[in-house]
Parts: sequence; structure tokens; C-alpha cells
Amino acid sequence: MSRLFNFCAGPAVLPESVLIQAKEELLDWNSQGASLMEISHRSKVFMEIAQKAEQDLRDLLHVPDHYKVLFLQGGAYGQFSCVPLNILGKHSKIDVIETGTWSAKAAECAAHYAQVNILASTKNTQYRTLPDLTNVCASEDSGYIHYCSNETINGVEFQSIPALNTRNKPLVADMSSHILSRPIDVSKFGIIFAGAQKNIGPAGLVLAIVREDLLHQAHIHTPDAFNYLLQSQNNSMLNTPPTFAWYMVGLVFEWLKANGGVEGIEKINIQKSDLLYKTIDQSDLYSNPIDPMCRSRMNVPFILKDETLNARFLIEAKQNGLINLEGHRSVGGMRASIYNALPLQGVKVLTEFMTHFEKMA
Ligand SMILES: *Cc1c(COP(=O)(O)O)cnc(C)c1O
Repeated sequence: MSRLFNFCAGPAVLPESVLIQAKEELLDWNSQGASLMEISHRSKVFMEIAQKAEQDLRDLLHVPDHYKVLFLQGGAYGQFSCVPLNILGKHSKIDVIETGTWSAKAAECAAHYAQVNILASTKNTQYRTLPDLTNVCASEDSGYIHYCSNETINGVEFQSIPALNTRNKPLVADMSSHILSRPIDVSKFGIIFAGAQKNIGPAGLVLAIVREDLLHQAHIHTPDAFNYLLQSQNNSMLNTPPTFAWYMVGLVFEWLKANGGVEGIEKINIQKSDLLYKTIDQSDLYSNPIDPMCRSRMNVPFILKDETLNARFLIEAKQNGLINLEGHRSVGGMRASIYNALPLQGVKVLTEFMTHFEKMA
């Protein structure tokens, strides 16, 4: 069976060339006589791979020197706890901008460590818009402001950095599902984190980009393995890192660099999402409920007017080489996740199928 176009929200599609290279190198990495999976993380060979991956990421995102890049475990979900444990310090509050399932989950986790203040919420619109933050101000006693820059489940994405008054408090962004899909100004953030399995690589690794001045206020009970300072002092190898995932994200970074970097992939991401939204908006069968100003370029939920067609849609999609289009259980309908590694051709085939299906329905 050949590979199909995979719209899974995560773990998600990887560039085919990366998978082929990994396959070729799987049994014997670079004449070591062993798989990269089977060698020490402290070996010179692995250290070089690890450092190259970090440097490539720094190049891709133009990460300033006063930020550490950490390769950690425990997923983005783990970061919902790591962030307060590491940077809350003596503060009694955490500010959260609630725009969907993932920022709401982050607020829930943060509530174990401090009082959570919901600065703004779009829950009353079923998370179909983004809040106007121009007159919003961080709480005086909050340690940081958390938001999710792309809500994977709901399909809303901030098109720019939230324009609230932060009172100079660190802005923390969960970028799990759109990191490296568009340029960002890292210097505006205290912490950026992202689980790998959406837009970076396989599951098992989470990236944290941490401004250096935030490294020194960890709570005394922070587990060492989740302590940003300890991990940064040990180049993310305080304990054994997920070596194979690290190698894989390194290959994805190389692939991205060879394809025009973040600036280059953004152009394709715009083409892909424009084509899909246009197809949805022009049809009578499909609809996307999200405010057009807030639509995600990565995760595109859509519903069929006649829900009894859902099962047939999914079966015929698969027959046309299109898989994993079922929407999240909390939202229903369909969702096409069109991450960096999903080629433009995949969206073309999808939209042609959708148009054809509508005619036949
Ligand atoms: C998938 C996802 C998470 C959770 O990631 P895990 O790696 O499962 O912990 C958190 N935030 C966002 C935005 C996500 O898309």
C-alpha cells in the first residue's frame, strides 16, 4: 500500500523524504554499525546531531542568543505544569487568555500552582473568534500570561502577537500546532513551547524556548528532570533525552531549511489554507464556523450540512487517498490538519474530492 494524504491532527504527517532518509539510516547510522537508537546520548556522534538540530532551529526561528532551547519530554501537557513550576516565583496569580480547548486545559493545570485569572475568554462564542485584547491588562500580581497561539481542536489562530498590556510580564505561548509554519518574533516571548508531534517530528519530544532571565526562579519541589535551569546547564541531557525523536526533528529542520525555511513554507501554507477555505466557503454542503479573521492555517474544521453524510464522506475520502479527516470528538464534523509536511498536492486532491462529493451527494 502506498502512502496516502494524511490529515491527522497529531501525531501527524512527516515529510516523506525525511521518512525515507530515516529508513535508510535505521539499521546502520553513518557506518557506526548500529542504529542511532542504539547508541549513547553522550557519544560524540549523537551530541553532534543534537547540536546541529538546535542550531538549525535557532536559524529557522532566528532565536536570539539570550534564549535557551530545551529538548524535553512530557509533551506540551507537561509544559502546562513545568511553566508555573519554573517561572511563577513568588507570584500568586497566572493570567490566561482562553481561546479554546488547549488554553482551557493549560488554565486547569496552572490552577494547581496559583490562582488563575482568565484575562479574556471566547468560550461564549464556542471559541469561534478571538478576544479583542487592546484594553486588556495583565494582573498586577501575576507571574506570567499564558495563551495558545493556534488552537488545534477549535481551529482559531492568532495572526499576530496579542496586543495586550503585559505590564512587562513574560508572555508564554503554546505553539504546539503551528510552530515553524510562519515567522515569529521570539524576542517578544518569555517562553515558547511546542510538542513535536504536530509540526516538528514524531511524538516524545517537546521544545521549550526560554528567555534566560526566567531560569532562576524554579519552585523548590520542581522535579529536576523538568527544571529549566538544570536542563539548560546540561544541554537537555540531565537524563536520557528521546534520542531518536531528537534525530528526527533534526531531519525535519534540515528539510525545512532546504525548502525555503519558515518564510518559504509560510507561502505554501497560505496557498493551502486559502484553497481549502475557499472551497468550503463556496459550497452549500460544507461550512467552517470560525470568524474569517481568526481562521487557522493549520487546522481547518468543517461540518457537512447533512450530518448523515459524514460516514460516507470519510469512506469515500479514504478511497480517494485522503485519511484522518474525522473531526475531534468534542467538535464533531471534519477536520483537515494541513501542517508543513502535508503537501499542496494533498490539499488539491482534498478540495477536488470535496467538490465532487458535493455534486454527487
Ligand atoms: C496536542 C497539543 C497539546 C498537547 O500535547 P501533548 O504532547 O499531548 O502533551 C497541547 N497544546 C496544543 C496546542 C496541542 O495541539
